[in-house]
Amino acid sequence: MLTGKVAIVTGSTSGIGLGIAHALAQQKAAVMLNGFGEQAAIDKLRKELAEQHGVKVGYSPADMSKPADIRGMIESTQREFGAVDILVNNAGIQHVALAEDFPDDRWDAIIAINLSASFHAIKAALPGMKRRGFGRIINIASAHGLVASGEKVGYVSAKHGLVGLTKVVAIETANNGITCNAICPGWVLTPLVQKQVEAKAKESGISVDKAKENLVREKQPMLRFTSPDQIGALAVFLCGEEASTITGAALSIDGGWVAQ
Ligand code: NAD
Repeated sequence: MLTGKVAIVTGSTSGIGLGIAHALAQQKAAVMLNGFGEQAAIDKLRKELAEQHGVKVGYSPADMSKPADIRGMIESTQREFGAVDILVNNAGIQHVALAEDFPDDRWDAIIAINLSASFHAIKAALPGMKRRGFGRIINIASAHGLVASGEKVGYVSAKHGLVGLTKVVAIETANNGITCNAICPGWVLTPLVQKQVEAKAKESGISVDKAKENLVREKQPMLRFTSPDQIGALAVFLCGEEASTITGAALSIDGGWVAQ
């Protein structure tokens, strides 16, 4: 379905980004991976993806907190692969603390990586997308892009901002063959969430399994995690012709979290 298309997935060395990279490669898109990790593990991942799906797979070490790195990633992908047709802004971090205790450097890092990085990547990718008359921009927001929880002031602010950014870009590109949408997941069991589960288990003196159950129960009517593969399948759908009039949407995939 995506033969000949080139995708960048930021933060794709782990979790949701990795699930999306797999799903796009399975549909025969060439993929530029990005994110942190050990070089040997990244090389292995690159090789596995390429062999499994028979597509070209690259890797950019760009740090999403650095605008110059982000511009460099878009330029090097255009040079190496010929285009950026699909841009998935997924890299993200979390920090949990009350607003009055929230460290300034965590606020700055969350806004930079979870919000500003998407702006810089979109700005750099749009001219090429407009020239080719095709583009699919997918911003991985969150249920926290639509509703709030306590102790997540940086994350909730960035994700609400990301939903706003999505809408503006959708309006500006509506007649250029480009769509821009946000995916808003509820709980997905990735390293980002595992850390929160382990912290809760320690804090309350309960097992990690019990903390997992409590975490989901607190927010989601549906008592199960969404998988990275399910997010990948939604991203693939958004890249297809069937989804060519879906733009500016914030699509929930959250077990009923924001329906309440
Ligand atoms: P994760 O920690 O498993 O993966 C995060 C990825 O981002 C990793 O590849 C990491 O290397 C990369 N990354 C972090 N900082 C970076 C930087 N400065 N530059 C480049 N790459 C960087 O997390 P995840 O749960 O897969 O989260 C992915 C996205 O999904 C995030 O934006 C997160 O906010 C969002 N999300 C996650 C959940 C969930 O329940 N896991 C729910 C809603 C939204």
